[in-house]
Amino acid sequence: MTAPALRRRIVAGNWKMNTTPDSGAQLAREIVAAGLPYADVDVVLCPPVIGIAAVAGVVAGTPIRLGVQNTHWEDAGAFTGEVSPPMLQGVVGYVIVGHSERRAMFGETDEIVRRKVAAVVAHDLTPIMCLGESLAQRDAGDTEAVITAQAAAGLAGLTDAQVARLIVAYEPIWAIGTGRNATTQQAVEAVSWIRERIQDEFGEAAAGAVRIQYGGSVSSQNCDDLFASPEIDGALVGGASLDTAQFAVIVQAAAT
Ligand code: PEP
Repeated sequence: MTAPALRRRIVAGNWKMNTTPDSGAQLAREIVAAGLPYADVDVVLCPPVIGIAAVAGVVAGTPIRLGVQNTHWEDAGAFTGEVSPPMLQGVVGYVIVGHSERRAMFGETDEIVRRKVAAVVAHDLTPIMCLGESLAQRDAGDTEAVITAQAAAGLAGLTDAQVARLIVAYEPIWAIGTGRNATTQQAVEAVSWIRERIQDEFGEAAAGAVRIQYGGSVSSQNCDDLFASPEIDGALVGGASLDTAQFAVIVQAAAT
């Protein structure tokens, strides 16, 4: 029998650069129709920013919450193409920050991640702060050092209470979009390293409350194993979040 989760789990779908406003609204309609077990799990959809309004119209009145996949850290100014936390306030509740695709392809450093997390928190939005090691770092035995350093750098300057309320997504880079998920044991080990580092920096209460998801090729096939551990506080789901049937199975598994 599966041990009960320690914290309320949260499953977020990262749609990445997929769906138009119309197809995103259609996907959201299917997800709403799936009747997810909201009493036991938080569900967040993160469409492309252009699709937020269309998806918001569909999920209005349901417990589904919205997130975006990125933000700038400044409030306003000459930052062509960017969106800022004050613009997101009242529109979404969650902001993915520091996804490995943004770190790798758009030059996001730990310092940029820190600024974004701070700006998101300052505007009463909830960051989903992503971190994770590369395969080379894992093979070199550096996973603990890499991910705990990322956690400390990204959260620097926050208060204990702010850290307690946010979400961390442990996403090993080698598992994202590859179909090769971390084993439950690898995920639990990494999550516990992150939690220990948070305890060192922000104390026991923050470490006990912060929710740490796993992300990386989570699917309807592997979610039962993943959520067999009460240490895993949910999932950040990429590819499988575009498939309503798979996403529903993952959310259901997180709720049980
Ligand atoms: C992600 O985008 O955060 C992710 C984990 O993607 P996937 O589930 O496709 O590996």
